[in-house]
Amino acid sequence: MHTLPTYDDVIAAAARLEGQAHRTPVLRSATADARWGAQFFFKCENFQRMGAFKFRGAFNALAKFDAVQRRAGAIAFSSGNHAQAVALSARLLGMPAVIVMPNDAPAAKLAATREYGAEVVQYDRFTEDREALTRRLAEERGMTLIPPYDHPDVIAGQGTAAKELIEEVGALDALYVCLGGGGLTSGSALSARALAPGCKVYGVEPEAGNDGQQSLRAGHIVHIETPKTIADGAQTQHLGEYTFGIIRRDVTDIFTVSDAQLVDGMRFFAERMKMVVEPTGCLAFAAACAAGEAIRGQRVGVIVSGGNVDLGRYAALLAGS
Ligand SMILES: *Cc1c(COP(=O)(O)O)cnc(C)c1O
Repeated sequence: MHTLPTYDDVIAAAARLEGQAHRTPVLRSATADARWGAQFFFKCENFQRMGAFKFRGAFNALAKFDAVQRRAGAIAFSSGNHAQAVALSARLLGMPAVIVMPNDAPAAKLAATREYGAEVVQYDRFTEDREALTRRLAEERGMTLIPPYDHPDVIAGQGTAAKELIEEVGALDALYVCLGGGGLTSGSALSARALAPGCKVYGVEPEAGNDGQQSLRAGHIVHIETPKTIADGAQTQHLGEYTFGIIRRDVTDIFTVSDAQLVDGMRFFAERMKMVVEPTGCLAFAAACAAGEAIRGQRVGVIVSGGNVDLGRYAALLAGS
């Protein structure tokens, strides 16, 4: 059985992140409050280092390495924000990092990961098994594999965003969180349960990839095919053992939103709040907007999870609807 991380682990992660992660701003929007009849508190992780909350979990995990682990370094497989989070954390901690990425990953992502000083190992998505390749490399080089969500130290690090939010603004009635593999949602739930026991915590997935919602209903982890959605940070096929263990205990419900709702969210953030938010980063807000009477008059936390999006793609999405 997996021993689940606790809020004490979030507190310890916050101490490790002090002076390393940005304490991201909590923004308000009078327009949003008036339009949806609630008080919104946006925790803007799009302004986090490397552009997403994933820095928190990766740095916390790498900072806990012992001397032997540090010498060999960290390895991860990801073509998204986790890759850059591990690469940057390793550089800051002075250790090597290898990131395993498909050879058709966007050039900008490859370049960004290399810029942070990581070695990128590419593989063919159609003929090679990325997990087997990563495990072999990890073994050959003695490197420690850091998964993107299903790891106690990653979950504890991700929980520090909600901790900061609630400590700054006080108790909330509801907290909406973007959900992929569940690292951010489960970490947020640990903080909310400790700091605002009455706060309902909701995970929000893309409609096409509602494996988390299905898992919560079924009472066990449900696996799905890689979903087709513009929320590329939430194209996970299943929750993890740790993340599901916390989510089933501490999360009130899981909602889904459509790609069109995500684009509406991107437009609202751009027009009204002057910020670039990636499609996945709009999941939480899109569900809060759709909540209607359920949030009227309430204090609602929204975690804006990231802002990394190719600008051509961003412009096309905004122009397309
Ligand atoms: C990874 C990611 C998510 C999903 O986080 P999980 O911990 O996998 O649930 C949401 N938004 C952004 C921007 C991400 O990079």
